[in-house]
Amino acid sequence: MRVVLAQPRGFCAGVERAIAIVERALEKFGPPIYVRHEIVHNRHVVERLRAKGVVFVEEVSDVPPGGITIFSAHGVARAVVEDASQRSLPVIDATCPLVSKVHLEGQRYARQGREVVLIGHAGHPEIEGTMGQIPGKVHLIATVGDVERLTVTDPEMVAYVTQTTLSVDDTKAVITALKERYPAIVGPDTKDICYATQNRQQAVRALAKVVDVILVVGSKNSSNSNRLREIAAELGVASYLVEDARALNPAWVVGAGAVGVTAGASAPEQLVEEVVERLGALAPVELTVLPGIDENVRFRMPPELAATA
Ligand code: SF4
Repeated sequence: MRVVLAQPRGFCAGVERAIAIVERALEKFGPPIYVRHEIVHNRHVVERLRAKGVVFVEEVSDVPPGGITIFSAHGVARAVVEDASQRSLPVIDATCPLVSKVHLEGQRYARQGREVVLIGHAGHPEIEGTMGQIPGKVHLIATVGDVERLTVTDPEMVAYVTQTTLSVDDTKAVITALKERYPAIVGPDTKDICYATQNRQQAVRALAKVVDVILVVGSKNSSNSNRLREIAAELGVASYLVEDARALNPAWVVGAGAVGVTAGASAPEQLVEEVVERLGALAPVELTVLPGIDENVRFRMPPELAATA
């Protein structure tokens, strides 16, 4: 069986930084360390950190007085920052700088007196954070149909921003519909979709051209992993989201000449290696990596941990 790996795949700079923040906080302050929400959307990462003494909570009210508190890579609403500050919790912010950039854009548009249309998926923590960072009216939409249903106060004073992990193609269609309906709208086009999301989507498109089945390593609640699987499926390739090697159903790859493997931005490379190993247990594997973009993005540590970097 030929197995082809997408390039790039797996960890992005924001995820690497968020995990490094938790590990350095553990070294510097010792356990327990409290993390609000899963630091990144990957069960294996969360379980490994939990074993080292990290306590995951959904609200800062669940952190005992004085507990070192880390905000996850997805970002948080202003209300969460204020809650933590009122409780005098020592906070380290692991929000990805690219998510923070979207917050700042949204805030700038709101200051200009514009209503902000946020393109993203309801219920995702990044969306809850971004909505709660933008003062004033924010409209959450996800589809072209939502654009038709939208009502704003002043069509001349509208702006949009997007979630960082959307499908580039779907988002382009939504932005085009917004521009048709509100010609005066301003926004960053698809630039808010982060480099890692764009690169992984481009890589899965290339992979879909050369394989019969695609396995996307990632957790069910990982937005960018789900988008990778959807893109492969839209291109007519059978595709499955697999949490890890155990989740791989051998029936999916029976008769496949070539199996493609990629991974969402929060999935560790070790899980990819284990999936390839499992494929190897089913049939002898000839492994290749598709040529693709080499990423060299790195983000700085927050000031509380910079000295330990
Ligand atoms: S997927 Fe993009 S926005 Fe999200 S953590 Fe990674 S680099 Fe940051």
